[in-house]
Amino acid sequence: MTDIDTSNLDFIRTIVAKDLAAGKNDGRLVTRFPPEPNGYLHIGHAKSICLNFGLAQEYPQGVCHMRFDDTNPEKEEVEYIDSILADVKWLGFDWGDNLFYASDYFDQLHDYAVELIKMGKAYVCSLSGEEMRQYRGTLKEPGRESPYRNRSVEENLDLFRRMKDGEFADGTYVLRAKIDMAAPNINLRDPIIYRIRKVHHHRTGDKWCIYPMYDYTHCLSDAIEKVTHSLCTLEFADHRPLYDWFLDTLQTPCHPQQIEFARLNLNFTVMSKRKLMQLVQEGFVSGWDDPRMLTISGLRRRGYTPAAIRNFCATIGLAKRESRIDMGVLENAIRDDLNDRAPRRLAVLKPLKVVITNYPEEKEEELEIANHPKDASLGSRMIPFCREIYIDRDDFMEEPAKKFFRLAPGREVRLRAAYFITCQEVIKDNSGEIIELRCSYDPASRGGSSPDGRKVKGTLHWVSARHALDAEIRLYDRLFNKENPEDDPEVDFKENINPESLQILSHCKLEPALAQATANDHFQFERVGFFCLDRKEGSPKRPLFNRTVTLRDTWAKLVKR
Ligand code: ATP
Ligand code: MG
Repeated sequence: MTDIDTSNLDFIRTIVAKDLAAGKNDGRLVTRFPPEPNGYLHIGHAKSICLNFGLAQEYPQGVCHMRFDDTNPEKEEVEYIDSILADVKWLGFDWGDNLFYASDYFDQLHDYAVELIKMGKAYVCSLSGEEMRQYRGTLKEPGRESPYRNRSVEENLDLFRRMKDGEFADGTYVLRAKIDMAAPNINLRDPIIYRIRKVHHHRTGDKWCIYPMYDYTHCLSDAIEKVTHSLCTLEFADHRPLYDWFLDTLQTPCHPQQIEFARLNLNFTVMSKRKLMQLVQEGFVSGWDDPRMLTISGLRRRGYTPAAIRNFCATIGLAKRESRIDMGVLENAIRDDLNDRAPRRLAVLKPLKVVITNYPEEKEEELEIANHPKDASLGSRMIPFCREIYIDRDDFMEEPAKKFFRLAPGREVRLRAAYFITCQEVIKDNSGEIIELRCSYDPASRGGSSPDGRKVKGTLHWVSARHALDAEIRLYDRLFNKENPEDDPEVDFKENINPESLQILSHCKLEPALAQATANDHFQFERVGFFCLDRKEGSPKRPLFNRTVTLRDTWAKLVKR
């Protein structure tokens, strides 16, 4: 065996590297990503996708299969299959010709079950669900053998055939593996391998009324596809003896190795599809792709990029122990990606009108502004300027606080890439609310440069009032206001929803170039945050932008305080 350097590899990549160096599995590497099509993919799935597809990409002979574990017909929908495939593609992975469905193997799985019966390793049981629970025993007590455990092979074959032929009602009979009712591992106490379900299957139609169980299906599907490394999350460690039992007992094409890793848990969110489904069905969010949802489709709509999600998965690494990752790590991944390459734009979220009194009424001019402060390759653009502009309300204080260096009465500031202006007058309405500022400008400061070396402390973003695009902007915050929304079993996790997770601002003013934005563009609105056009409701006719992430981690500051 050649020596290989595994010092930079996680524990799974180390196993794989060693197996390949040792010529195991004839030098093949086959992984798989096996979602159940009963919901949309979330960021936790991304970890598994990046691992399985990523690993296969790292070796020339590596292959990753896309396989739907579609053994639960009543919960599965074609909508989920379509969304899952689209999400995996969007993340940047390709299964090539290797798209499979566990339901493709129903015939083979059935034949394997008949094999087990013939070997005396499976039997048809007539206990009810409730009885079966009582017979199963507990972690401390062994189970008891079913009175049907010793049916003859002939009787079992006959009953199983009649189960398959639809002679019996749902729940009357099941097929069980005959392993060991006294096994300390409850999964080995004669687990069910087939149950009767007279329901339509989205792929096999009404051909079957018996459906195989997950544990039985999964290992055999892996073996049929000649998977070499079957990577799954820790909760399946206790199922591994069963995985191996089926493959050791039956004559299968190969025996894949199951390896478990810690699932991703993120704080300030929930991850299980069942809980995400509740949020959707009970209307707490607008859908699976609500930008506050940590589904792949929600993140995409929010403005996350595939690269940011892949980088995030690489950053968190692989461990054998459960942990919680801070949401800030995910947010930093998108900030890092966009900071380098998102073009800058000017946008005023809470507009306050400024009239530049010494600027000619009819005049308009175009000013050049760089698209990125550090990357000249992103070029520059022209932005219109005229007598009336908008600045952000938060950039003006009538009585400026101590460290407030932005606009205030009598004070001079720079308008980004435009001119120096000085506030001369504050106009208020009857209720005392500020509705307009009257300022003068210095024509010699064109481009925002100081005419005579005089300094200003503040630089504000602005938008020409005459040319501005009127837009709706949605600001998102974490969907839950508790680090672990599920930590109290007495409290429904939905009670921990952050009531301020969505803030809608209308009549925001954007620079006109943003009228051309598409949902695949990402922008930094200078001094504000990263934004993208909403891919569902946004269009040139309806400029609607989502805030992907703030410029800085405001939560980290709050937590510190
Ligand atoms: P959920 O618990 O969210 O309902 P699941 O495990 O039931 O998810 P599957 O469709 O069975 O969802 O998952 C497909 C693959 O994704 C499995 O191999 C599973 O281990 C993996 N996976 C699911 N959730 C996570 C997670 N949070 N972190 C890492 N991998 C995950
Ligand atoms: Mg599952």
